[in-house]
Amino acid sequence: MTYPVTTGDFSAAPGSDPLSERSAVVDLEAIRHNVRRLAAAALPAKVMAVVKADAYGHGAVPVARAAMEAGASWLGVAHISEALALRAAGIDAPLLAWLHTTESNFGAAVAAGVDIGCSGWELERIVAAAREQERPARVHLKVDTGLGRNGATLDSWDHLVGEAMEYQDQGLLRVVGIFSHLSVADEPERPETDQQLAAFRDVLAVAEDAGVDPEVRHLANTPATLSRPDTHFDLVRVGLGIYGLSPFEGQTSAELGLRPAMTLRTRVSQCKDVPKGQGVSYGLRYHTSGPSTLALIPMGYADGVPRVATGGPVRVAGRTYPVVGRIAMDQMVIDLGNIGPAGAALLGAEVELFGNGADGGPTADDWARAAGTNNYEIVTRIGPRVPRRFINERAAVEPANGQTNGQAALNGQATVNGQAKP
Ligand SMILES: *Cc1c(COP(=O)(O)O)cnc(C)c1O
Repeated sequence: MTYPVTTGDFSAAPGSDPLSERSAVVDLEAIRHNVRRLAAAALPAKVMAVVKADAYGHGAVPVARAAMEAGASWLGVAHISEALALRAAGIDAPLLAWLHTTESNFGAAVAAGVDIGCSGWELERIVAAAREQERPARVHLKVDTGLGRNGATLDSWDHLVGEAMEYQDQGLLRVVGIFSHLSVADEPERPETDQQLAAFRDVLAVAEDAGVDPEVRHLANTPATLSRPDTHFDLVRVGLGIYGLSPFEGQTSAELGLRPAMTLRTRVSQCKDVPKGQGVSYGLRYHTSGPSTLALIPMGYADGVPRVATGGPVRVAGRTYPVVGRIAMDQMVIDLGNIGPAGAALLGAEVELFGNGADGGPTADDWARAAGTNNYEIVTRIGPRVPRRFINERAAVEPANGQTNGQAALNGQATVNGQAKP
């Protein structure tokens, strides 16, 4: 997804190379690897790649394409507007949007062939949209089996299914799917997943008795895909895993066979020698314990680095340092210690906040710990001021010799925010 012009086209700043200054580098081959890994775990169920929230901050359109290349059959987003943006980019895969308001544009969703999640009140609006568009809506009925968020209550399920089937008989919609969402799948020892699974089986039976014949029944998110084959049904909805991150407290990405796709990097923007006792950043919560070199890291909470994450890891020249003092809007500081003239040489040096962790470097999990949050939030909140750079993107090529699957890797070629780099 490209960012709206109103947020500023920071990539067009004259006289600078924004990708070199700071970027979130998204490795689309890592995305493909992770989709293949999750697809293998899900077999014979199919994979819906969840690309809501701009693909958890990674860039919805390039990630959606990479996921489809690697074998995902469906795409999932929260908002209809996110689904329409994918359609506008030419993506015609089966696509589900499940979180609506009374202002959501159901007509546009029907017109664009977007599947619509329905928890109850939406049904009348969906049917009105289908009438207006003269086209049957594709609906996935959602049931709340215990999470307590959206989805029909178990008590109202019977009624919802009955109404939906009446509309289906009138040709106004087709019940394509039945789904629910798990609440504690990331904690496999907890009993509630079994309870939700049992409730889901019950509602499926009710729906089948009412004559529903869904294409896809779906319940599992990433943690359930990896730990609970009995939750897979026909389709798994995987988000976090396709970005290469672990949903489990005690297991790393590598242990799960996943590769973190995003690297957040910038360059040292100042290095200076200071005496013992130098206070650092707003509030002066940190003072140097001796003569020291401070390195300024030109990213802050406006870029999505959590303000509370003092102590988060920053790697410079092969070593990892904790952020000292408060993280500010645009910048933060690391203390390199008493390294003398070596400090000056680090001006402009590559800085990694997190990456794939393969060589012991800092990870999004480390930042999540420093911020008291989860890895989902760390990658998702990286802001629009940080240009996304896509590596290992594939470009469609003309089919040659009658082959229809011609895709060529553009080695090393990168795009910025989904646009070809000029
Ligand atoms: C976000 C979301 C997912 C994906 O969850 P992950 O834990 O990231 O795999 C699946 N289903 C629904 C309904 C969601 O909102």
